Amino acid sequence: MEQEAVKDFLRQIIAEDVQKGRCAYPVTRFPPEPNGYLHIGHAKSICLNFGVAEEFGGHCHMRFDDTNPAKEDQEYVDSILDDVRWLGFQWSGPVRYASHYFEDLYRFAEDLIQQGLAYVCDLDAETMRIYRGTLTEPGKDSPGRLRSIDENLDLFRRMRKGEFAEGAYTLRARIDMASPNINLRDPVLYRIRHMEHHQTGLAWCIYPSYDFTHPISDALEGITHSICTLEFEDHRPFYDWLIEHIDLEARPRQYEFARLNLSYTLTSKRKLKMLVEQKVVEGWDDPRMPTLAGIRRRGIPAAAIRRFCTMIGVTRSDSVVDATVLDFCVREYLEQHAPRAMAVLRPLRVVIRNWDSEKTQWIDAAVHAQRPELGSRRIAFDHEIWIDRDDFSQDPPKGWKRLVPGGEVRLRHAYVMRCDEVECDAAGQVQTLYCSVDLATLGANPQGRKVKGVIHWVSARYGVNAEVRMYDRLFQAEQPDEGQNVLDALNPDSLEIMQAKVEPELLNLKPEDSVQFEREGYFVADRFLWSQRPVFNRIIALKDRWSKSAS
Ligand code: ATP
Ligand code: MG
Repeated sequence: MEQEAVKDFLRQIIAEDVQKGRCAYPVTRFPPEPNGYLHIGHAKSICLNFGVAEEFGGHCHMRFDDTNPAKEDQEYVDSILDDVRWLGFQWSGPVRYASHYFEDLYRFAEDLIQQGLAYVCDLDAETMRIYRGTLTEPGKDSPGRLRSIDENLDLFRRMRKGEFAEGAYTLRARIDMASPNINLRDPVLYRIRHMEHHQTGLAWCIYPSYDFTHPISDALEGITHSICTLEFEDHRPFYDWLIEHIDLEARPRQYEFARLNLSYTLTSKRKLKMLVEQKVVEGWDDPRMPTLAGIRRRGIPAAAIRRFCTMIGVTRSDSVVDATVLDFCVREYLEQHAPRAMAVLRPLRVVIRNWDSEKTQWIDAAVHAQRPELGSRRIAFDHEIWIDRDDFSQDPPKGWKRLVPGGEVRLRHAYVMRCDEVECDAAGQVQTLYCSVDLATLGANPQGRKVKGVIHWVSARYGVNAEVRMYDRLFQAEQPDEGQNVLDALNPDSLEIMQAKVEPELLNLKPEDSVQFEREGYFVADRFLWSQRPVFNRIIALKDRWSKSAS
């Protein structure tokens, strides 16, 4: 019997709100701060916010939470919009910016002052911190609390005009310095910052705090469900306080869910930025980065990320998702969709002595054995071929099934081949194998013939050169930010560049097309370099090589 999927707690809340008529449909928003590139953690929030809007016939807004001019940049705005579209979502209405509400926010701040609910404070940052108290001790009132409404209004207006230096004053809500919730101990609403903003230029020299901006932006946009991560739970009482005291009809509500943590992965914009600045990686979109731009360049399909987000679900308890869950989703998608081809990553020359040097045989091979509708490709078989150095051994370990001197292997899609002679250079390095093929074995083993190993190969005459970048996990520690320094957790072998020989038809791929190199893994035509030269990025190996049980 079909069982209806169990709705997560948020979808249950939304379903009930719609059913009870608290809203006709949900309006959500995805509200990044443009201070870095989005990462896999943000994908969870994007899939959730856009996902519920889609499922319940509602809307999801794209809004930049851009209240801190010091750390923000247009480059980040552009990359974030690209990433959301790449993930497959379209926001409702225009792109929104909290900074476009600066005038409204200012008006609401003056309203609070008029109501006696906000005041100008002259404590410097350090004194303010001391006055705030601790979890066990109540705070102390700022002297600014005693100012009259008129005096507060006058000072706040002069703050806006630019009459004061940074740090001279702040605007604070007047709530309760003894509240057990520190977020209610007169939180800061505005700071003076003589700084240009990427959206508003030099129009402002006072900037609203996140806690003040977010609830009002939600209310102005008619957001019904303001979904954020658990660390904002303690901010919710202030969110509600503000909604209560501003003159707007909308009643958005905040809901929290557990952020995504992934093993072997950093999900902090600040730390990712450090990797970029210290040139540990080549940029925000380095294929080893967990940014969406990096994930895309790595060749991981957006559909695999969406599937991953569905699979991990939405809860209120913090946990670390195993990186192999993401790997599973990536392999599952590519196994279905990626065409197959042969690529020799460590080329070793093989001369087939019983094959005419003039003769090329074209062999038909399936593009995808399980998907005949994808048709077939033609593979050239010649007098000289490349095989992988790792598929030959003069001193094989126990259980070795591949080629040895005097031994046989099957060449994938072609013949059974025997190694007759090995030619080495002065240093003992193998240069060329002289082999012969059994002409009766094309594509199948004759009765009674036991050839265990199957190896891949590429024609030397038709094979083309390609650069293959073997990417692996950036970190070798399961929790890269557990130790003192994340740099200590780096995997020294996260990239190895190889000069490979590949089937010529691969040159027809387009940037971002993926392919399975048989026996090696999944690879993608590099998004940016492909138009100049063939460069493949390894998306993922065929099997997990990290799990503790794997040899
Ligand atoms: P970081 O800590 O990496 O700087 P952030 O929370 O400051 O991230 P924002 O730009 O404020 O980044 O995030 C936009 C939205 O994405 C927020 O609603 C935030 O809750 C959500 N988000 C950020 N990180 C994660 C994560 N790891 N898992 C789920 N949602 C996240
Ligand atoms: Mg944030």
